[in-house]
Amino acid sequence: MLIEFRNEPFTDFSAEANKQAMVDALRLVEAELGRTYPLVINGEKIQTTKLGRSINPGNKEQLVGQMSQADKEQALAAIAAADTAFADWKLVSPEERAGYLFKAAAEIRRRKFEFSAWLVYEVGKNWGEADADVAEAIDFLEFYGREMLRLAAPQPLTPYPGEHNQLTYIPLGVGVVIPPWNFPFAIMAGMTSAAIVSGNTVVLKPASTSPVIAAKFVQLMEEIGLPAGVLNFVPGSGSEIGDLMVDHPRTRFISFTGSRDVGLRINERMAKTNEGQIWMKRLIAEMGGKDGIVVDQSANLDDAATAIVQSAFGFQGQKCSAGSRAIIHQDVYDEVLDLIIQKTNQLKVGPAVTNAPIGPVIDQQAYEKILDYIEIGRGEGRLVVGGSIAEGDGYYIQPTVFADVAPEARMMQEEIFGPVLAVCKAASYKEAIDIFNHTEYGLTGAVFSSNREHLEYARDHMHCGNLYFNRKCTGALVGVHPFGGFNMSGTDSKAGGRDYLLLFTQAKLVSEKW
Ligand code: GLU
Repeated sequence: MLIEFRNEPFTDFSAEANKQAMVDALRLVEAELGRTYPLVINGEKIQTTKLGRSINPGNKEQLVGQMSQADKEQALAAIAAADTAFADWKLVSPEERAGYLFKAAAEIRRRKFEFSAWLVYEVGKNWGEADADVAEAIDFLEFYGREMLRLAAPQPLTPYPGEHNQLTYIPLGVGVVIPPWNFPFAIMAGMTSAAIVSGNTVVLKPASTSPVIAAKFVQLMEEIGLPAGVLNFVPGSGSEIGDLMVDHPRTRFISFTGSRDVGLRINERMAKTNEGQIWMKRLIAEMGGKDGIVVDQSANLDDAATAIVQSAFGFQGQKCSAGSRAIIHQDVYDEVLDLIIQKTNQLKVGPAVTNAPIGPVIDQQAYEKILDYIEIGRGEGRLVVGGSIAEGDGYYIQPTVFADVAPEARMMQEEIFGPVLAVCKAASYKEAIDIFNHTEYGLTGAVFSSNREHLEYARDHMHCGNLYFNRKCTGALVGVHPFGGFNMSGTDSKAGGRDYLLLFTQAKLVSEKW
């Protein structure tokens, strides 16, 4: 008997036993670093001569793993394998398909610390952030498994005399899944498992900075008995194989999480019908955010400042949900700013292995981009915390706060995806909400207020997919806070919500006359 879905609890690392388990897992994983991982096409493991390198962003000398790189032919072979496997997989019962997800969740739960340790090394998450990523991966598997069972149950239709009518949600076909590196386990496993449990087959192209954790997941899915060809694994360069897979006439849908620019490019390419293609492709995209927290005069200012700092700097601000803007009513502006400064100054930067609150950013490119934005910020606001690189052998940047930034400034408009917060003063509460809405994105937002009218006004007027009152704007929980935003934040999908699997299916109606 399947119990009702509940979120996987987070690990309490202040408990000695958990701390020790994490230290042990880090040691075990360290001994495994540097290995080479294959492509997986129709269950066959293929080592290529061309290899990508995944390095620890907090210790550039440390090679986390070497990843085989698919070329064009291998990418085509993966699509062909997925296409062939689809013929059988689509007929496998929803119960059996869900069963694979439940098994995978159980196995990940057993090996939780090990997976967290991989995230610490591969992307520089501190222990808490890594644990939350693994917990969310478990949640997605448990949640989507149950969702498929719900969708497989008889669907309500209007009774009609003399007919038996039935509506079923059938899969789409071959999906190309392109996940991000910032939740390299949770979002990767969530996107992949949603596609698979709905009866589709997948070609998974992991992010080039986090392929090892994806390889571990693919291996796990094989271990629990997922049939060959259902999940194919093709790491490789976007320019070499990305377009080809997006353009392929047998690709039925693309599930993408990443930047706005790449998402828009995919959207344009897949709008074109190629030779032999008999469908319009579907895109499920989660893109960027320029999220913010609004604080009014009635708010608990200390709570607000804590949430602003957590939302801005959790995982170094590398979340599309990150609260990179704080919009504060002029009456409480100085007080909140002081609190933000105090709390940010307490954050230590250091290696994720040592569980420092602030770790490295993901790679050289991100490092340079963020530092460029800090330079831009100097011209747009008053630097009050940070503003430069931090010590260490990795891509360390101090958490940085700019005050007095104008709504039109680039710091208030563009997604930086790093530990940089812009603070803006608003003359009135209404103006604060207008400033919040004045971006092309609409992913997450928060309001701190104890004024019921203000909260209701925000409910009606703040245009974002995930709006939070009196709490931080990151950390959506599967099932509790279905996640996804509006406008340039994506295709308005809600990961971890009851509408999500519908995006991977099409409804078929069968009517039988009696
Ligand atoms: N779901 C995550 C959160 O609520 C963010 C996901 C992302 O950054 O892509 O914080």
